[in-house]
Amino acid sequence: MILKIKCAECGTEGSLSLTDPGYQGPYRCWKCRALFTIKIENNELKTCEPLTEEELKRHEEELKKQQEIDALRAKFKRQ
Ligand SMILES: [Zn+2]
Repeated sequence: MILKIKCAECGTEGSLSLTDPGYQGPYRCWKCRALFTIKIENNELKTCEPLTEEELKRHEEELKKQQEIDALRAKFKRQ
């Protein structure tokens, strides 16, 4: 489903496509490029907090680490 998210900085509405009814992660406004951490529960936006580039980088590193762990797990499963 597509969820509409209003930017807290400039008020521009953007959309985020979701595969799950819940989501927690970064969101970037397509217009002013402001970054936020958003939390969605049951297809509803619960929190929207400003996010710095540094925090985003940290988040992406964590995500990458998690993906590496998942890839390793998948590898072991196949054996
Ligand atoms: Zn914006």
